[in-house]
Amino acid sequence: MKKQIEQLSAYQPGLSPRALKEQYGIEGELYKLASNENLYGPSPKVKDAITQHLDELQFYPETGSPLIKEAISEHLNVDPARILFGAGLDEVILMISRAVLTKGDKIVTSEMTFGQYYHNAIVEAADVVQVPLKDGGFDLEGILSEVDDNTKLVWLCNPNNPTGTYFTHDELQRFLSRVPQEIPVIIDEAYVEFVTAEDFPNSLALQEQFSNAFLLRTFSKAYGLAGMRIGYVVAAQEAIEKWNIIRPPFNVGRLSEHAALAALEDQAYLDSIREKNARERAKFFDSVSSHKLNPSQTNFIFVNTSRPHELYEALLKQGCITREFPKGVRITIGFPEQNDKMIEVLNNFDL
Ligand SMILES: *Cc1c(COP(=O)(O)O)cnc(C)c1O
Repeated sequence: MKKQIEQLSAYQPGLSPRALKEQYGIEGELYKLASNENLYGPSPKVKDAITQHLDELQFYPETGSPLIKEAISEHLNVDPARILFGAGLDEVILMISRAVLTKGDKIVTSEMTFGQYYHNAIVEAADVVQVPLKDGGFDLEGILSEVDDNTKLVWLCNPNNPTGTYFTHDELQRFLSRVPQEIPVIIDEAYVEFVTAEDFPNSLALQEQFSNAFLLRTFSKAYGLAGMRIGYVVAAQEAIEKWNIIRPPFNVGRLSEHAALAALEDQAYLDSIREKNARERAKFFDSVSSHKLNPSQTNFIFVNTSRPHELYEALLKQGCITREFPKGVRITIGFPEQNDKMIEVLNNFDL
């Protein structure tokens, strides 16, 4: 057994709605607002696409997800040889870490970001530098100052989970211009479809200028397909060719590929999700005193509090399951009715 695995623990899901109801004596419905899922679900066209392929379940999928790869290639206008799919970004992060990292290598990322960068680096016996947040968001200067000869990967998350914050196009461009070209900078854009800020990075354009800028995108969040497990990386062709060697041959299921195709095709639905989310997101910022909330470009909001567990419990009693962190609570933006309840709790809670 790899010794470093003892440092880690398996992913801890929160209590199930049923267990929570029992523990807190809650009547009525509980809403899962802890994992940033799209409560509206995927485009209705996804169901049709899936049912059309129900007679193929005995067959392995085509290796490498060629249909959705072609569609993404056209959608983003990038060469299909620069795209690699995984069973969600979780698997993409695992594959990259496995392919790149070995004992003594170093990754640089931020504290309070997506945990899988850290987790997979430790599995590969790499060292992890987690740069503290600055003003509630990524400290790109601080990250840059940690990049050295041992650094094999830099992980950025934009907008960041769980803080909800983002860095701008100009900030990312300046950052990339100062990172040595041979060090991959991986930018996780799991929430990019929810972004409405004008100065958010056009990372595809930056990729043309910086061949070491790699992008992660997923169908799990705005596209509403978290249960189907499909996400991808857009990177330099040489990197993709290497990473593809360690990809499990049939990692993305048939139905997942067809679901993603149908979801991608229905951009009007995606637009409606973005608009609804932005409207509800604005409601929080219009109604709750701003020092309590981090700015957000995502489908969740990070509430700053010194009493996260108490706030989590107060929200739970109103039927909303959220996620607590050491210095705050992350709430997924829900349906209007739940958002109104959560806003009321936030306004009455002494943070
Ligand atoms: C949800 C999330 C992921 C994982 O997405 P999957 O594609 O469902 O594995 C990756 N990165 C960030 C920042 C996320 O929030």
